Amino acid sequence: MSPDRNTEKASKPARRNTWQKQAIVENVMARHDHPTAQKIHNDLSALGIGIATVYRNLATMAEDGLISTVEHDGEVRYDRNVGPHAHAVCNVCDGIWDVPLPNNLPSALTPKGLATVDEIDLTFRGRCPTCI
Ligand SMILES: [Zn+2]
Ligand SMILES: [Zn+2]
Repeated sequence: MSPDRNTEKASKPARRNTWQKQAIVENVMARHDHPTAQKIHNDLSALGIGIATVYRNLATMAEDGLISTVEHDGEVRYDRNVGPHAHAVCNVCDGIWDVPLPNNLPSALTPKGLATVDEIDLTFRGRCPTCI
């Protein structure tokens, strides 16, 4: 039996800070609306940044913990807020807003079955003032 010589190389390509990534970071950090990759791409397409680049950079940023993600209606929305917070969602216009949580809430709510709370997934759904 010969050793498997086709094992993948473990080295990852270094994460380069390209101008495209910088533009994507700035776009996500400037907005509060939990945009989809498509929306970010709409903003940046004039700069010649392709949708695949937007998706790739957002995935890397989420993996690195620079941004978080929220799923709504089967779509991934990107969130500049990486701290614990809840969301308010309008069922009509699909708007998503951050809802701050009291600092002691994670510990106050820690269920008996968990030793730590690393993430809270709490969503309030209703209609925003524009859609009521
Ligand atoms: Zn609304
Ligand atoms: Zn959020």
